[in-house]
Parts: sequence; structure tokens; C-alpha cells
Amino acid sequence: MGERTGSKKDIDGFRPPEDFSENAVVNDPDIYRRAEEDPEGFWEENANNIYWYKKWDKVLEWEPPHSKWFLGGKLNACYNCLDANLDTRADKAALIWESEDGDIRQYTYQELLDEVCKLANVLKDSGIRKGDIVTIYLPMIPEVIISMLACARIGAPHSVVFAAFSGDSLATRISNANSRLLITCDGYARRGKVVEQKNKVDDGISSIELLERVIVVKNSDNDISMKEGRDVWWHDVMNGSDIVCEPEIMDSEDMLFLMYTSGTTGKPKGIVHTTGGYMVATNTTSRFVFDLKEDDIYWCTADAGWITGHSYIVYGPLSNGATLLTYEGAPDYPEKDRYWDIIERHKVTILYTAPTAIRTFMKWGTSWLKMHDISSLRLMGSVGEPINPEAWKWYHENVGMGKCPIVDTWWQTETGMIMISPLPGVTTTKPGSATMPFPGIKAAVLDEKGNETAPGEDGFLAILEPWPSMVRTVFGNEERFIETYWSKWDNRTYFAGDGAKRDDDGYFWIIGRVDDVIKVAGHRIGSAEFESIMVSHPSVAEAGVVGKEDELRGEVIYCYVTLKTGAEESEELKKELRGYADKNIGPFARPKQIIFSDDLPKTRSGKIMRRVLKAIANNKDPGDVTTLQDPAVVDMLTERTRELE
Ligand code: ATP
Ligand code: MG
Repeated sequence: MGERTGSKKDIDGFRPPEDFSENAVVNDPDIYRRAEEDPEGFWEENANNIYWYKKWDKVLEWEPPHSKWFLGGKLNACYNCLDANLDTRADKAALIWESEDGDIRQYTYQELLDEVCKLANVLKDSGIRKGDIVTIYLPMIPEVIISMLACARIGAPHSVVFAAFSGDSLATRISNANSRLLITCDGYARRGKVVEQKNKVDDGISSIELLERVIVVKNSDNDISMKEGRDVWWHDVMNGSDIVCEPEIMDSEDMLFLMYTSGTTGKPKGIVHTTGGYMVATNTTSRFVFDLKEDDIYWCTADAGWITGHSYIVYGPLSNGATLLTYEGAPDYPEKDRYWDIIERHKVTILYTAPTAIRTFMKWGTSWLKMHDISSLRLMGSVGEPINPEAWKWYHENVGMGKCPIVDTWWQTETGMIMISPLPGVTTTKPGSATMPFPGIKAAVLDEKGNETAPGEDGFLAILEPWPSMVRTVFGNEERFIETYWSKWDNRTYFAGDGAKRDDDGYFWIIGRVDDVIKVAGHRIGSAEFESIMVSHPSVAEAGVVGKEDELRGEVIYCYVTLKTGAEESEELKKELRGYADKNIGPFARPKQIIFSDDLPKTRSGKIMRRVLKAIANNKDPGDVTTLQDPAVVDMLTERTRELE
């Protein structure tokens, strides 16, 4: 533990080490006061770190719940990530990539720009114009980053679909986005086996006719079929494509990308992010939270299919001229020391990962760590779910060798940027707390009525003032946008959907989501989406899917199923249903338990009460069940669940 850094109150926790603070991008706690006094001024000041073709006329227009930021400003996100670095960093590594089987590819800023321009020209030749949404369905290979930036360059918003999702999930998202072009690959390796990505695509999209072009990266050796006139190989179309492509001049409020969340109440939500505010927000938070310096090797282990991969692999770090490391593969392949091996070989200085990974490493034990010299690390981050204090301490002691600050960052797809997090050179951290809102962000914990809760009391996490990278709408569903985020209290207070509390020092402690999303090994899936897929099986009448807490994976899936008349309960069918989830959602979604039942707990209006199912699965008190259609169902389900254990 380092020395105190001048905060007035004596907060008990881990203070930033003095030498870290001295050299930190931010080391003056006064930044909080300045940003609070003049948030627009704060963002405006930081907007100058971005390159604009034309600067804004006005910082913010707030017509709750709609905001516009940097009005009248003109810029290009790809230009900011690549071209803007050429003066001083043309030959600096922008991306170091390692594959599961140990291939390493490296791109300098100049090389990355060349590839991006080539692909941008290919997209244009395929008829893609400003405003057309391109779907990307790739694993963490360099082409996923190249594809995103090529889209940004020509003003075509991208929609990246997580590679481990099924072909059906892909098809739903392509249809919702009305996307005519898809970028995918033949296959990819996972623990030495091939995932047949292109075959998943073909299965999934057989029912939709939208796609006019599918660009296929050759990444594996598996056989695939190419549809004449629609499917083309990446290497064929890139070959001979011009390396010059002028960036499209985009308005601050033009859409940069669409990102689907897992969706708890049915279809996934397409979260819309625009260009100016998002770039300023991710650029600023990357610099302040990750303390990015010229010689850092920054490794964010997220997938590009999630928002973290957008904000803190691509747009934030690259617009700061950072060197990214990305790894496409499993953490235990060939052995459980793969991460530490990567950190040692590439001299990674900043590691940003998720609690589920940290818990897994804890289980595997420190002997894997001790095989490697990971002393290059100087800062570590966590994101995705609350990190339990035990895991935090383990991370701090064993990975950070007691000397690296930890930034536990709370944010969401919808917020676009890190909202609550320590500033590593300033903030005293407490294991398990995301600490304080980022400068310029006004967060609070409110009760049902919208009053701030007392210290220590649970409530709902809310954001009280607009911020530059806030979600602009839900794609094609403005009503849902309002209903989900802006109607809990009033239309100017953002409802995050997470439970939280604050302690006596004002620190924020995130408890978890208020609604129903299952998280398995870092992957999130909405209960409703999951259930509707299970119900598509010919034997299934109804399904209620909940997470059961699991030390290692975060949650495992318990799937309660009522069968259609005539279908027989059997071990055989259980096996089939597990395989069905696996095939139609993704391997991470394989249920741990299938529980057959005659009925499910439902509200009078017929909605499944997942809160009750969840309590049963977790062997907890289901609470008030008087509003259920048939309260007796609880005892029956409890009995059946306990039988399995
Ligand atoms: P959906 O919106 O479809 O339900 P999701 O909320 O799981 O999906 P994301 O936007 O990727 O998808 O995740 C944001 C959520 O993850 C937060 O609302 C919160 O519940 C959780 N989360 C992220 N980071 C943290 C953190 N540092 N501490 C606690 N919870 C976190
Ligand atoms: Mg969410």
C-alpha cells in the first residue's frame, strides 16, 4: 500500500502507490470539483484531444431524455483512431495479435490504416454507403477490428454480433438492423477444435433473404460452401483494393454503431451510439482510467462482440495511440498459464479483464502464475459484474503483486463509457467497490420514489445528468428506449437497471441487475430470449430459465420446462434439450439442469416470475408468492430442484 494522496477524509482502503500517482495522467483530485462545477466545460476541454474537421457550435442540447453532444461538430472516428496517429506513431505497433495456436501478427498504425482503407473500398464497391448497417460476425482476429474501422471510415454503422452466438441469433440481429452485408469467417479454433462459423451462418440465415454480400475471412481449414454471387473471400476482394480511402465527414450525431444487448424482455435491444460524444467519452476515459502512456502494452481481454471491445479495445485506446494486445483463444490452452505467458512474452503493462476470469484463475491456483515473470504489469482493471472482495484481493496480491492499482469499472452498453471507477492515481480503492463516478458524471442511488437512499441502504443506480456517450435510442424502437431507461422516475433520470448502495464515504457498491439476465462465464443472455428459443423445441410448452450462482462461472443455467402433451419426461429428452440450447444459442448456454415440471410460477397476467424461479434454483427464500397464479407450484418446484442435488 502506498502513501496517502491528500484526500481530506481518512478513507480506509488501498491508496494509489506514490510513484504511480506521481506519474499518473490524472493525479490531482481537484479534477472532480472542476468537472462538477462545469461538466460541459470539462467535456469540451477533453474534446480537444480529438481531431475535428469542424468544431462544435454547442456542447450539449438536452431535451430529456434526448441529448445531442458537440452539435455541428464534424469528425470521423476511424480517422481519429488511425490517421490522427500517423504524424508521430506511423511505425508504432497499433495491434499485436496472438492466436490460440501461437501465431503472432503485428500491425503498425500505418499498416492498420492500409488494411482498413482497402476494406473500406471493398465495402463501397459492394454498394455500402453512409448509413447502411454492416453486420460483423467474427472471433477476435485482427479482421474484426479492421472491419469495424472500415465501416466507421465510410460512415456505415457496424453491428458486431458475438461470434459464439448461434446462426439464429445472428439472423435475428441482421433482420432487426436490416443489414445487407455480413463479414464473417470460415471457422476458428477453440481449444484446438474448429468452430464452423460459416456453417452456422448458412444455417441461421437460410430463412432471411436480406443479405446481398457475405465477405468470408479465411481463418481455418474447414470446408465451407460459398453461395455464388453472394459470398466472396476476404483475401480475393482485398487483393488489389486501393489503400487510399478518404474518410467520410460525419456529423457528431451520426450513428457510429449499433450494439445489441442480450435483452431481458424479449428481442434484444439495438443500442444506438453516435460519433462525437462517444469518441470524446471513450478517448477521455481510456486515458484517465487506464492511465495510457506512450509505451504501454494494453490488453483488454474482452471480445469485440461486447461493448467493452468497442469502447476499450477499439475506439478509446486507438484514438489515444495505444498499443493493443489481443488474444484469440481460450485462457487454458494449451495450459492454464496462457494469460501469464502472454503477459510475460509481450510485456503487457495494463490488463483489463472480468471477474469471471479472475475467479477461474483463482481456482486454478497461483502456481501457474509463478511460472512467469509478469512484473511488467502496472495497472489492472475489472468489468462486467460486481467483483467479489475476495477475488479483488487475490487479483491485487497475486497478479498485481500488491503494487498495481485496480480499477473496478462500472458501466453498460447503454452508457458507452466507464461511469463509475477509480482514477488510479487519485482514488483510494476498496475491494468490491467501483468507488466514485467519473469526473463530470452525476450518479446516485435512489429508492422507488426517486429519493436518495441513506448510506448502506439498497436502491437503484441512477444517472442524474446527461453524458456524451449516452445511448441515443433503441434501434427502431423509441418506445422501448423510453420505457426501459426513462420511466422509472421521470424522463430525465436514467434508470440503469442495477441495484446499488453507497457507504459512509459515498463510495458506490453495485449489487447486480434488478431484472433477469443470466451470466455464464462472462457471457450474458436474457432469460426471455433464452426461453423463447427453448419453447421453439417441438416437445417444450413453456420454459423458465434462471441463473444459479456458481463460484466459478458466475452463474450456471437452470432451465425449468413444461412439456407439451404427449411428450415424455426422460433423460434422453433432457440431453436433447441441452444440445438444443447449445446449438441455438451457443455452447456457453448449455443448461446445467433441466427440470421438468407441470407448471411454472406465473403472475396473474401470465408472466413467468423469474425472481421466484431464481430463488428456488439458489435455494433461497422465494419471498412473497401471493401474487402467483398458483402458489403451490413453488413447493413442487423446490422439491424437484432439491432432488437433483
Ligand atoms: P442487457 O442489458 O441485455 O440485460 P447486460 O446489461 O448484461 O445486458 P452490458 O451492457 O454489457 O449487458 O452489461 C452491463 C451490466 O453489467 C451492468 O448493468 C451491470 O449489471 C454489470 N456490470 C458491468 N460492470 C460492472 C461492475 N464493475 N460492477 C458491477 N456490475 C457491473
Ligand atoms: Mg443491461
